[in-house]
Amino acid sequence: MGFPRGKITERDGMRESEIINVALVGTGVIGRSWMRVFSRAGCCTRLYDNDRSQTQKALAWFEESLNLDVSEGFITAKEAESSRALVSAHDDLTDALSGVQYIQESGPEKLEIKQMIFRLLDQTADPEVIIASSTSSLDMNQIAEGLHGISRCIMAHPFNPPHIIPVVEVMPTRKTNPEVTKATIDFLKRMGQKPVLVNFYVSGYLINRIQAAVVREAIHQVERGLADVDAVDTVIRDGLGLRWALFGNFGVNNTNADGGIREYYSRFGEAYKTVMNDLDSTPPTFAPDMIERIGRGVDAMEGKTPLSAICRWRDRMVLRIRALKEKDPNP
Ligand code: NAD
Repeated sequence: MGFPRGKITERDGMRESEIINVALVGTGVIGRSWMRVFSRAGCCTRLYDNDRSQTQKALAWFEESLNLDVSEGFITAKEAESSRALVSAHDDLTDALSGVQYIQESGPEKLEIKQMIFRLLDQTADPEVIIASSTSSLDMNQIAEGLHGISRCIMAHPFNPPHIIPVVEVMPTRKTNPEVTKATIDFLKRMGQKPVLVNFYVSGYLINRIQAAVVREAIHQVERGLADVDAVDTVIRDGLGLRWALFGNFGVNNTNADGGIREYYSRFGEAYKTVMNDLDSTPPTFAPDMIERIGRGVDAMEGKTPLSAICRWRDRMVLRIRALKEKDPNP
């Protein structure tokens, strides 16, 4: 079974086609996964982390994950070798940025640190290089505020882990050059990712706002005793989620009436309003006793299987679902 991947093609003729060398700044959980994305699509991938041991750990993870994918048949040994050959580690930032056209920053999620890293990147990288941040909660306008090169700065927020989950939220700052936004989106598509444009900053952007709405409702129903943890997950895993793996919210709604989404919303809009008016808008407490109660429910549901094995199963199954969808796409 093939691994869904991007590819640099000869015919790409615009600015984005010039992106073939990338630098990853920050090689923790997210940076190491970006390594897989860019190297499998054929980009020279240059790593920099201010903690050298993190880069060594990332390289060890990279090797292990390539070997696992070969053994499970997601990639060939030759593909793993091509990825390996494209990755290089650098102790010096200037060296890491040498000759790159795109930088993916994945440093710690703290505004002052991101601002410091972006200042450094803006000073060091050639003026035409795009500087993208993996930030998952901060406002890109604040990260790049006051920088001479703010017009080449942009958010490219992946979902973890990006080499398995393709969606990337792309949000320009108010001063980002629209050509940079377009080039970033085109480039990420070529990398095999699914970039979506988010037009302005709101907390949670798009993906985590939708996730937060579901998490809030799931916890509320356990807390008030309507159902237990397993029941809540069953309605998602064996109900909503099966369709969500194929369509989004609107695509699912469209299939819920013979006449499509217009008929569905016309017929069920009032019923939705009744439920929506009944939803509790206050967030859960996330107090230790609440977390423990949910934790015990998850322990009962998952048994003694180690979390690492569960995560690997998740990754395998997501790849298989993606491959199935590629083979038999929505007509
Ligand atoms: P992490 O702590 O695993 O990795 C951060 C890395 O940045 C570390 O290796 C650290 O040594 C390095 N670093 C610190 N200061 C640096 C500097 N000055 N220059 C270069 N490297 C530096 O964190 P993570 O989970 O990989 O998150 C990285 C970014 O990705 C964050 O902005 C986070 O919000 C975002 N993100 C995380 C997830 C997730 O689920 N973990 C998902 C999407 C986005």
